Amino acid sequence: MSGVALSNQEIAAIFQEMADLSQIAGGNPHRIRAFRRTARVLDTLPEPIPVLLGRGGLDRLPGIGEGSVVRIKQILRTGTCDEHRALRAKLPSGLREMLEVKGLGASTVRRLWQHLKVASLEQLEWACRTGQVAKLPRMGEKTTERILKGIADHRIRIGRLPYIRSRRMGERLVEQLADHPEVQRCQLTGSVRRGRATIGDLDVLVASDHGLAVASRFVTLPEVEQILVQGEGRASVRLTSGQQCDLRVVTEATWGAGLHYFTGSQLHNIAVRARALKQRGLKVSDKGIFVRDTENLVDPGTTEEAIFAAAALPWIPPELRENTGEIEEAAAGRLPRLVEASDLRGDLHCHTLASDGTGTAEAMARAAAALGHAYLAITDHTHSLSVARGLDEARLLAQQQHLREVEQRVGQLRVLSGTEVDILPDGRLDLDHDVLRGLDWVVASVHSAMNQSGAEITDRLIAAMRTGVVDCIGHPTGRRLDQRAGAELDLERLLEEARRLGVAVELNGNPYRMDLPDVDVRRAKQLGVPVCINTDAHSPEHLARREFGLVTARRGWLEPGDVLNCQPWSVIADRRRDRLRRQGFTVAVSRPEPRAYDEPTAPQPSPHWPEELSPAPSTEPPPAKDDGGVDALAERLVAPLDDELRQRVDDWLRNGGDDELEEALGRQGMPMQVAFVLLSS
Ligand SMILES: [Zn+2]
Ligand SMILES: [Zn+2]
Repeated sequence: MSGVALSNQEIAAIFQEMADLSQIAGGNPHRIRAFRRTARVLDTLPEPIPVLLGRGGLDRLPGIGEGSVVRIKQILRTGTCDEHRALRAKLPSGLREMLEVKGLGASTVRRLWQHLKVASLEQLEWACRTGQVAKLPRMGEKTTERILKGIADHRIRIGRLPYIRSRRMGERLVEQLADHPEVQRCQLTGSVRRGRATIGDLDVLVASDHGLAVASRFVTLPEVEQILVQGEGRASVRLTSGQQCDLRVVTEATWGAGLHYFTGSQLHNIAVRARALKQRGLKVSDKGIFVRDTENLVDPGTTEEAIFAAAALPWIPPELRENTGEIEEAAAGRLPRLVEASDLRGDLHCHTLASDGTGTAEAMARAAAALGHAYLAITDHTHSLSVARGLDEARLLAQQQHLREVEQRVGQLRVLSGTEVDILPDGRLDLDHDVLRGLDWVVASVHSAMNQSGAEITDRLIAAMRTGVVDCIGHPTGRRLDQRAGAELDLERLLEEARRLGVAVELNGNPYRMDLPDVDVRRAKQLGVPVCINTDAHSPEHLARREFGLVTARRGWLEPGDVLNCQPWSVIADRRRDRLRRQGFTVAVSRPEPRAYDEPTAPQPSPHWPEELSPAPSTEPPPAKDDGGVDALAERLVAPLDDELRQRVDDWLRNGGDDELEEALGRQGMPMQVAFVLLSS
C-alpha cells in the first residue's frame, strides 16, 4: 500500500485533534463524540490499521462508521483528511499548541478563546499573569497557577532551544548565505527576531532573484542534517541542532512584506491584516499591499514601515509583536520607547576570582569602563555556597577595602562593594545584616532547595526583602532555559511586597536564565516595581553580553524609566539610603581599617555554574572545645601580635574555620572587628 506510514496511534491522534478542534469551534456534539470514539478504538487496536483495512475488517469494528473508514483511507494516503485540514485552517494554530499543555482540555481552551480571545500560549500566559483567567467562572487562582506550570513544562518538553543557541546557529547560516553573490540580503526572522527566550523552528529570509540557486546552496550548508522540502525560493531542513529551519526567498522589492510576514507572530500578522482591510481597504500579504478583493498592487512592501503604514500604524518593534496590546497602543500613538544598550549606565551583578568568576576585580572594572559604564557592583557569592568559594563576613570586608583601591586605580567609574547573598532554605540571609548594611549594593538570590513549592520560594524571597538590607532579588524564578522551568512564584505577592519595601527585581541577562521572564517583567512594570538589567558576568568578556537581558526587557515593554540601572548611581544610592532610613537603620557604619587584600589569581577549576550545585553540607564535626587553649589564646591576643598569631588571625579573617580563635577574639567584643583592630595596630 502506498501512502504515508502512520502508526495506529498517530491516526488516532488525528481523530482526537478533530474532536478537540470541532469542540473549540462549537461543532456538532454528535460528530465530536463520534470522532472521540473512533480515536479510542483505533488507539487500542492490536493490528496495524492497513492490515485490518486490507482484510475488510475495519468497518466491522464497533464504533467505526462508514465516514470514519473513508477518512482513515484518506489519512493513510495523504497524512490528513479534508475535515482535519478544514478545521486546522479555520482555527488559529496557537489553539492546538494550547491543547498540548497538560490539564488544558478542549472545553477550557474554548472558554479561554471565547471569553478572553486567547489564541496562543503567549496570550494565555499574559492573561494568566494579569488575573484575567482567574476571573473567569470556575477558574480561580489555583487553576491559573496550574496552567502557568503546564505552559512552562510544555516548553521544556517540546525541546525548544535557548535563544542564544538558536541565534548563534541562525547567524552561522546567515553569514554563509550572505557570501553567496546572488544574495542581496539575508536575515533571521521568526521568533528569534522577536527575541523569545526559547525557540522552536528557525526562519531565514533572503532577498534574491535566484530562488532556486539560493535554496540549493542552503541545503548543502554543513549545519544541515536532513532536507525536508526543497523548491524554488524555499526549503525546509532539519539542522544538526535538531531544530527545523525554514528558508524563504523574496525579491528585494518585497523585502519588507516578507520580513513582516515571516517575523510574525501569526496572531500579530492576522491583526495587522484585519486592520489594513478595515482602515484602508487594503490587503496585506507577504507579496505586498493590494487593493482589497483584487490583484491590484498598491505597493510591493519594500520596507516594513510600508506594511505598517498600510494598516495606519507606526513601525512596531519585533519584540512586541505578539498581539498582546501592541497594535492598540501603536494606533493610539502610545508605543513604549524600549530600552537599549546605550541607556544602561552600569551593571549591578557580577563575580570575580574571589568567588567563582574568572577575572580580578580590576579586570572587571576596566572591562565595564570600556563599555562606558559609570558604575559596576562586584557581587560575589557568600559562604554557604562553598562550591563557589563564597565569601564570609571577613573576606567580604577585606574585599570592600580592596575595591576602593581598585576604584582609585581605574579612575573611570564607581566600583561598588556588593554581594550576591544566598537566601538560605529557611529564608534567612547567609551573612550578618550589619555587614550587609555597610555595603553599597546587596543582591539576594536562591541557589539551593530549588525543589520547594512556588509558595515556599516566594516566602523565602519575601523574607529576604523584609530584612531591609536587600536591594534587589536576583534571578527570581531560578529557571535554566536548557534544564529546568523556574519556580512557580506567586508573582503578585512578590511584586506587591517589592513595591511596598522599595526592593528591585532583577532581569538576569545570563543567556541561560533571562530571568525574570518577559511576561513577568511586563507585570513588574505595570505594578511599578523597578527592574535591574544585569549580566551576572563571571568574566570580563561577559560584561559585554547585555543583549540577552535587553531583549527580554524589550519583550517586557520596559522603557528606560522602568529600569533602575538606567539611572545614575547617585539616584540609586539615594533610594537605598532612603529605604534603610525608613526601616529605622542608621546608615553610617564603622569601616574597618584598610588592610592588604590578597586577591586570588587563579579561578576555581570547576566547570559548573555554582547555581547548579547545592551548598555542600558540612560533614566535619565542630572542633572539640578546649577551654585551656582558648584562655591561653585570649591572653596572647593583645597588641602587638606576634608573627605567628598575626598570621593565624589573618588566616581566620580570610578563610574562617578557626573556632578557638573566634571564641578568644569574642572575649574582647565582635570577633571580626577585634581582629581588624588587632591587625591594623
Ligand atoms: Zn546567582
Ligand atoms: Zn550571580
